[in-house]
Amino acid sequence: TTGCTAASTVAAVRAAAEAITEHKVELTTLDRQIGDGDHGENLARGFAAVLSKLDTEQPATPGAVLKLVATTLISTVGGASGPLFGTAFLRAATTAGDEPELDGPMVAAVLAAARDGVVSRGKAEPQDKTMVDALIPAVAAAEKAATEGADPAQVLHAAAQAADQGAADTTDLQARKGRASYLGERSVGHVDPGARSTAYLLAAMAGAVET
Ligand code: ADP
Ligand code: MG
Ligand code: MG
Repeated sequence: TTGCTAASTVAAVRAAAEAITEHKVELTTLDRQIGDGDHGENLARGFAAVLSKLDTEQPATPGAVLKLVATTLISTVGGASGPLFGTAFLRAATTAGDEPELDGPMVAAVLAAARDGVVSRGKAEPQDKTMVDALIPAVAAAEKAATEGADPAQVLHAAAQAADQGAADTTDLQARKGRASYLGERSVGHVDPGARSTAYLLAAMAGAVET
């Protein structure tokens, strides 16, 4: 099995940025239905800034890459999702520490730290129709895969698949956090944009890390 190096973390982040560009309009459209119609733009702006930083900086460890993403997203994304994704990547970076290479269980631990960061920052509970509803099943699947001996790519694939289902399952939920909660019952019947973007980010990162 192959560990996740700084180079593969950079590749994962670049793929994440591409996925956000690819799905920018869709994410913004979802946010127009139950929010203020800026989620795709917010993330696209943030990941464009991440890409330009990666053109000039070469972080030496996976943790340093994750930290670069965190600080850049915090200062460029704005809205509710900026601090939330920023905290996710910051906690992920702290858990990765200065390890040169992450194995499957470490990748699962990094994802768990990201989830915990979002929950502690945003105080959303399960079923509140937020990105947490993608992150919780993603981490559960990642931890299960890691326990069964999965390598980093397989752990990320398991997480991505579960996040995709978690995002789809937000359709039937009524929002209780963020702007969508202002709609009350009218938020039912739409996918949560932050859960959807979380699933896209994980899928892109999974595809970029080599097995
Ligand atoms: P804003 O709502 O400020 O315009 P975005 O549109 O970028 O910010 O992000 C909206 C997304 O943020 C929502 O779809 C939801 O997934 C997520 N979100 C909002 N509030 C919370 C929260 N308290 N906890 C977790 N996620 C949240
Ligand atoms: Mg919005
Ligand atoms: Mg906004």
